[in-house]
Amino acid sequence: MSRATQATIHLDALRHNLARIRQLAPRSRVMAVVKADGYGHGLERVAHALEGADAFGVAAIGDAERLRAAGISKRVVLLSGFDEAADLPALQRLGIESVLHHEAQLRLLELDGVSLDAPLRLWLKLDSGMHRLGFPPERLAEVRARLAAMPWVAPEPVLMTHFARSDEFEAEATREQIARFEAATAGLPGARSLSNSAAVLGWPQAHADWIRPGGALYGISVVEAKTGADFGLRPAMTLTTRLIAVNHVEAGEPVGYGGDWRAPESMRIGIAAIGYGDGYPRHAPPDTRVRVDGRDAGIVGRVSMDLMAIDLRQLPDARVGSAVQLWGDGLPIEAVASAAGTIGYELSCGLTRRVRFVESG
Ligand SMILES: *Cc1c(COP(=O)(O)O)cnc(C)c1O
Repeated sequence: MSRATQATIHLDALRHNLARIRQLAPRSRVMAVVKADGYGHGLERVAHALEGADAFGVAAIGDAERLRAAGISKRVVLLSGFDEAADLPALQRLGIESVLHHEAQLRLLELDGVSLDAPLRLWLKLDSGMHRLGFPPERLAEVRARLAAMPWVAPEPVLMTHFARSDEFEAEATREQIARFEAATAGLPGARSLSNSAAVLGWPQAHADWIRPGGALYGISVVEAKTGADFGLRPAMTLTTRLIAVNHVEAGEPVGYGGDWRAPESMRIGIAAIGYGDGYPRHAPPDTRVRVDGRDAGIVGRVSMDLMAIDLRQLPDARVGSAVQLWGDGLPIEAVASAAGTIGYELSCGLTRRVRFVESG
């Protein structure tokens, strides 16, 4: 029997989430962020399901290449930008746009852009307070002047910034980032783009011309104690496997590596064919929720590479072959992530190649 671990990608949920996002930000165009293989859902299938988006955002030229090879002709934006001279003709060949966030890129453009035969479209990124990527606002005038002097750069770059704390809906830091960005760009031509998913959900004053949702498209929330469902989003991934053993253990007997979990009473334990070798988080503690044949149960012992153990005390009907759900509809990935000390994005991005992907909807 082949391994039962399977990720089902719900194309209808992707489409629903895009529609829901448009409803939340009705005046904005949508750049669907599909970096990291569509947050682990599969780049090409996600892009095809989201063909209604206005553009796609990727983090690597290789991803842009895959999108073009898959027949996606929409605008594609390289979010972390080009970083060597050879990238420039590649951008041109693929017809993709780039974020410009650093002096080193400006110099590459000034030196090597001459050879481009069509103007490159840029998204000019300002650092409004996150201090990761972006020009300091006080350099904006100088950077714009240098770009304007290069005929191989298209006029009026989109002006963008990125939030550090938009998942906190009351954060003063986000108010300050918005104010700094608005002050720096006041009166300038060019579209504006500020909002990631959390800002789409919680900061309507920052929706502007282009929103850049990633996680929300996949139905995943990074807002503390909220799931995608709380915002009308649907999970785009369901992760499942099966029980491959059901065992009886006596009270006081240890289960799993390290023996640090012991059966509190004589009980049945199910062994499911999934572990950190599939991308399930090793740090998920005992009691992290799973569903067996649609009913709640908790894991016990340490998650190992290929397997995990499940408390079957409440599930007398569970047997070898029973379906085990790890996350998805009714079992939020956000809850599993929170139990394991991470966020849903890391879990969806982290599934490994031995997980079988299937599509539904
Ligand atoms: C990843 C990314 C996004 C999307 O963030 P989500 O939290 O997934 O919505 C938006 N903008 C930039 C610049 C990014 O790098």
